[in-house]
Amino acid sequence: MSSDARAHGDGVSFGPIAIPGAQVFYETSQTFALVNLKPVVPGHVLVCPRRSTPKFTDLSDEEISDLWRTVAVIQRALEREHDTSSSTLAIQDGPLAGQTVPHVHVHVLPRRVGDFARNDDVYDDLERWNADGSKALDDDRPPRSAEEMRAEADALRALF
Ligand code: AMP
Repeated sequence: MSSDARAHGDGVSFGPIAIPGAQVFYETSQTFALVNLKPVVPGHVLVCPRRSTPKFTDLSDEEISDLWRTVAVIQRALEREHDTSSSTLAIQDGPLAGQTVPHVHVHVLPRRVGDFARNDDVYDDLERWNADGSKALDDDRPPRSAEEMRAEADALRALF
């Protein structure tokens, strides 16, 4: 773990959602990263500012720097772990852009050959949440169990 990162402990707030510490695998003074309830691809995680605010444009320069520095640290580790050299990074910044959880979050998705029939279909899958946070009709992915998410977070924590 880097000198700026903290060991995992208490949970964090992800908008209105209380995320248990077991789901958080990386933290700095300004940023945390959590494993996803419904990953679009294996290794799809979320990186968030600690302060719960919906818009990227609400963040201070210091929060933006720490967020993107942390994204880079996590992206490098995920690409090594998933044996790839490509990732999709995405922010749905506001409800009209598809944001369902009103707390800035960068989606980090390691990409693999053939993971989608059309490469940009990844963005359709990122959209498969309704604006009120409920499941979209065409979303047949079950949410993962707390145990599955804990196991992934434990494995990811060991990478830093
Ligand atoms: P967006 O649609 O861009 O706001 O993305 C919301 C993301 O939050 C999706 O990737 C969801 O799978 C994820 N998500 C929603 N609830 C939880 C939760 N309790 N734990 C982890 N990830 C969540």
